[in-house]
Amino acid sequence: MHTEKIGKNLFMVELETGGFKNLICSYVIKGKKPFLVESGPTNSIPNLLSGLKELNVELEDVEYVAVTHVHLDHGGGAGTLLKFLPNAKVIVHPRGMPHLIDPERLWPSSQAVLGFISEIFGKPEPVPKERVIPVTEGSFDLGDGAKLTVTETVGHASHNLSFHESFNGGVFPGDAAGTYLPEFHVVVPTTPPPFYLDAALASLDKLISLKPTVLYFSHFGKATNAVERLKDYKLQLQLWADIAEEGVRENWSLEQVRDRIIAQDKVMHKVADFIKSHRIYSKTVLENCVRGFIEYAKQKQGS
Ligand SMILES: [Zn+2]
Repeated sequence: MHTEKIGKNLFMVELETGGFKNLICSYVIKGKKPFLVESGPTNSIPNLLSGLKELNVELEDVEYVAVTHVHLDHGGGAGTLLKFLPNAKVIVHPRGMPHLIDPERLWPSSQAVLGFISEIFGKPEPVPKERVIPVTEGSFDLGDGAKLTVTETVGHASHNLSFHESFNGGVFPGDAAGTYLPEFHVVVPTTPPPFYLDAALASLDKLISLKPTVLYFSHFGKATNAVERLKDYKLQLQLWADIAEEGVRENWSLEQVRDRIIAQDKVMHKVADFIKSHRIYSKTVLENCVRGFIEYAKQKQGS
């Protein structure tokens, strides 16, 4: 299993979900008690547990598992994980809480959006209600004067949270800041319907105002130039939205909107071949995310 120290008291666990590298990771903050960010999907909980072992984390010491949102790839494994962490509680947005306690509706809707990918991630197990802490703001003590601060950053989902850790001044944005491709050091959008552009842009402004030093992407890994990336991502979202709006006005197919995005977005142009040949990203970026923008554009134009 692959774990890596990426900052003061901070470690990344490569989850290698379904054998895919550089796709999903969890983070461990070693403060006064171990603090986890993202459970990742159900099917890679065994990999997370062996990562914790590699980091010498005693399972009964883990106090919190913070999930940025309840999509299968971020909080889907929380119920399974908690079976192994007898004293841990899950931190989640109140709008995500019902889906953690009772995932019976989340699973079929995830299957509908993700198709075969939902089977790679695995079906979520319920989290006992008394072990969920619903929050939209506030902070948690990490020890040594450090804290983890919660910021509500909706847009990608109506219940996305971001977390700022003060040991290093970095932010865990979940999917609020896009998907980072470490192979190319660039960010691409991954926002399935329903996508809320205005909320997403406002959330990015919130993250920019925190002046983070680094971003810890759940997909995938640590990235520097945090503020610059967040600003660039705002422009990228706006560009995709403009293209989608033009496409809806002109009655383009999804493929036509997608191809226009690849032609006009410099980042997408650079990574298009990689994404097209990637089993997961070809679906989440080039289908679901393009659809997210088209649905947004249709909604905006009232059609
Ligand atoms: Zn995600």
